[in-house]
Amino acid sequence: MKKHNRVKAIIVATSNKHKLKEIQDILKVPISSFNFPVTENGKTFEANAIKKAKAACQKTGQTAIADDSGLEVKCLDGKPGVRSARFAGPNPTPEKLCNKLLKTIRNTKYGIRKAQFVCVIAIAYPNGKTKTVKGICRGKIIHEMRGNKGFSYDPVFVPSGYKKTFAEMSPITKNRLSHRGRALRKLKRSF
Ligand code: IMP
Repeated sequence: MKKHNRVKAIIVATSNKHKLKEIQDILKVPISSFNFPVTENGKTFEANAIKKAKAACQKTGQTAIADDSGLEVKCLDGKPGVRSARFAGPNPTPEKLCNKLLKTIRNTKYGIRKAQFVCVIAIAYPNGKTKTVKGICRGKIIHEMRGNKGFSYDPVFVPSGYKKTFAEMSPITKNRLSHRGRALRKLKRSF
């Protein structure tokens, strides 16, 4: 794959300020957000990420990236997956999302509370080319919410090999371990 070494600034297609901050902290290139409503009706993270990145690139004429991500829970056969943001209805608070998940799997023991966060980042270039990279962070869903950092499902997710939830970790530690950090570092290597 040809490297696009001239990427100095990037448009990020998202309205999620938490994602934007994490992307900025990890990529360390100037970014601006592009908040244009795109219907996320793809069946995969890849399809949604490409759709958002292309829309932002076409509207602005600049290189654009988009993140599509979610939580896959083993005992729910990979749900909520691409529907993670809408699992507890439109515009849910983290409490609502976490409580809905905890309630749904309340009788499930630790061994099968395995879960993984998945992040696909798509980059769309003005010449029409697109590319995706994927990052995964494996872990488990605990039995109660812990911590007040991060966003959405962070208070109930503990990455494998750690005791703290994402919401109890510093942003630097979360970015080092997270699905988004992994995907973005792959993307950075291809700039
Ligand atoms: P989308 O990519 O806009 O469809 O939304 C992804 C959704 O997945 C978010 O709104 C969160 O509910 C969830 N999600 C993705 N990444 C994270 C994360 O790092 N922490 C907590 N929840 C996340």
